[in-house]
Amino acid sequence: QCVAVCPTGALTEVDETGKVIRALSDPTKTVIVQTAPAVRAALGEEFGMEAGTLVTGKLVAALKRLGFDYVFDTDFAADLTIMEEGTELLTRLQKHLDGDKDVKLPILTSCCPAWVKFFEHQFPEMKDIPSTARSPQQMFGAIAKTYLADKLGVKREDLVVVSIMPCVAKKYECGRDEFKTNDNPDVDYAITTRELGALIKLSSIDFKALPNEDFDHPLGESSGAGVIFGTTGGVIEAAVRTAYEVHTQKELPRLDFDELRGMEGIREATIDFNGLPIKIGIAHGLGNARKLLEDIQAGKSEFHAIEIMSCPGGCIGGGGQPYHHGNADVLKKRQMALYTEDRNKTIRKSHENPYIVKLYEEFLGKPMSEKAHHLLHTEYFDRT
Ligand code: SF4
Repeated sequence: QCVAVCPTGALTEVDETGKVIRALSDPTKTVIVQTAPAVRAALGEEFGMEAGTLVTGKLVAALKRLGFDYVFDTDFAADLTIMEEGTELLTRLQKHLDGDKDVKLPILTSCCPAWVKFFEHQFPEMKDIPSTARSPQQMFGAIAKTYLADKLGVKREDLVVVSIMPCVAKKYECGRDEFKTNDNPDVDYAITTRELGALIKLSSIDFKALPNEDFDHPLGESSGAGVIFGTTGGVIEAAVRTAYEVHTQKELPRLDFDELRGMEGIREATIDFNGLPIKIGIAHGLGNARKLLEDIQAGKSEFHAIEIMSCPGGCIGGGGQPYHHGNADVLKKRQMALYTEDRNKTIRKSHENPYIVKLYEEFLGKPMSEKAHHLLHTEYFDRT
């Protein structure tokens, strides 16, 4: 059997493609798939295409030909993550401004499982600082096995959720006990971009010749903010787009925050929330994250929010992506591909995604509601 190795967390995990194939050939199962944002910017490289070629439509077409019953987008869940994480940021910020000494800032993003594992092992005394929001992969699974399962009239145990991820640590994340109900995981199997490439080749699908096809609904619609989750700085830029408008009740004068973009290992920027300066830090690579965490420990950090991703470049440089052999140009091209997809989207802010609005109306109530908390948030553990 195949084994993939994560360059960040020394995680060694087994390729579950065989289990996915078995699920696809089981007529009693409804098998759905979600694809992470970074996958569309890199999968083409497995088929000899230039780095940074966007293959979103061909990716969907390939997954449909592989036999998935519905093809959805993790970017939808990235929008949902922003609704929850952005609300948490604003709640903590307001309490801080009101002088509540118990509230902890900065808030740290929590969508990267290798980073979560890192602070659980190395900085467990800070485990109440990261956002409690689950990662988009796990939010998707939780909504799929409740809201979607109800809509489809399928029992939880007959719905198989598969993820296509740029990441090896996402396999480990699926197995965490917090993300299971009666031993049934919210996400059953995660396979990497490279493993999907191999499966497409094994199935004799001519990837380059595929037409562009669209994601299914309701979990396939996303904003541009959801797309840029795949690159360093993208999660916090997406959060700013929503948090600014919710906090100020004004429309953002611009959507591209160049001060949050780039490839430097540690970056910082101050964003003006209508007179309130919000200080933001960004780190990619765990060595860089460690520096920001040590500043927090020493009481020297002035940030309100920090985005941390384990892989260089964020998920575009994930351990499950086509090998880039440390070539920074490849990462930049993948990054530009995501910014292009963002710019081409009609909707570019998570809170304007109509399917997210409907999900709250029909099912969750409002961000951070009791139901949202139960399904979309998590807790962290001291793993020293
Ligand atoms: Fe996985 Fe992305 Fe984190 Fe890398 S940065 S470990 S690809 S979630």
